[in-house]
Amino acid sequence: MKPAVVAEIEPLRAVVAEARRKGQTIGLVPTMGALHDGHRSLIEAARGRNDFVVVSIFVNPTQFGPNEDLQRYPRPLATDLELCRQAGVDLVFHPRPEVVYPPDYRSYVEVTGLQDVLCGASRPGHFRGVATVVLKLFHLVQPDRAYFGQKDAQQVRIVQQMVKDLNVPVEVCVCPTVRETDGLALSSRNAYLDAGERRLATVVYRTLIEARRSIEGGERSAAAIRERMRERIGAAPGAVVDYAAVVDAETLCEATEIEPGRPLLLALAVKFGGTRLIDNLLIP
Ligand code: AMP
Repeated sequence: MKPAVVAEIEPLRAVVAEARRKGQTIGLVPTMGALHDGHRSLIEAARGRNDFVVVSIFVNPTQFGPNEDLQRYPRPLATDLELCRQAGVDLVFHPRPEVVYPPDYRSYVEVTGLQDVLCGASRPGHFRGVATVVLKLFHLVQPDRAYFGQKDAQQVRIVQQMVKDLNVPVEVCVCPTVRETDGLALSSRNAYLDAGERRLATVVYRTLIEARRSIEGGERSAAAIRERMRERIGAAPGAVVDYAAVVDAETLCEATEIEPGRPLLLALAVKFGGTRLIDNLLIP
């Protein structure tokens, strides 16, 4: 069945309230659209544990910097709705920016510290926009569970921290990164890559795998791993490292010594031409 599509707040609240009245549990999957199999895996996870699944499709302007790709970000609504239909979504929330941010809008959420490192360092204000829109979606939909991809590891940590700090009654569910067969993490931004960049882009995941292997092989110096990741990416012509990080998976602070039993995050942001790709591996 086709999902209902609503663009305004009142009908969104009404449809969700009706589901609640029937005693249904509600799962929310926040997205910016241009849906792919990574998003589909989140929807399927939500479908598996909730009676009523809401997908939001909103290219959130507050998480884009002034020189970023807000205008050119892909918005293939018809194919997105078809994917939602196939995946059994009940309701799609697709608001215009003015609905989410009316002209007199003033309130923002900041998750200090966590928002300033990694992607936050090269994209100032990005996670303030993310945390703000996610909290708004939580208030609008009031889901029992919300689904996020490990692909955006920093986003996950920030949402988890916000939910804990602000006592938001939502269970944050994290789903594994879905990849192409050659390892490239699916991303709506992969569509920006030309054929040559697309071939090169596999270096990102390969570098993460090699870093994990060297930790498994006994490497204990985080600096050495960082250096090796930088070299590996640097050797790919046209790939420019934004960051190559080995951080504590919880605090996102740079690790020095790798201690067994302490979860680590290996994270990369790499530019191929004008396209910035991110990926990560969690070392439990
Ligand atoms: P986006 O539309 O890029 O804002 O992503 C919406 C949600 O889908 C976020 O929670 C992402 O982490 C998640 N997501 C994006 N790409 C992937 C992927 N390749 N595998 C799993 N989840 C993903």
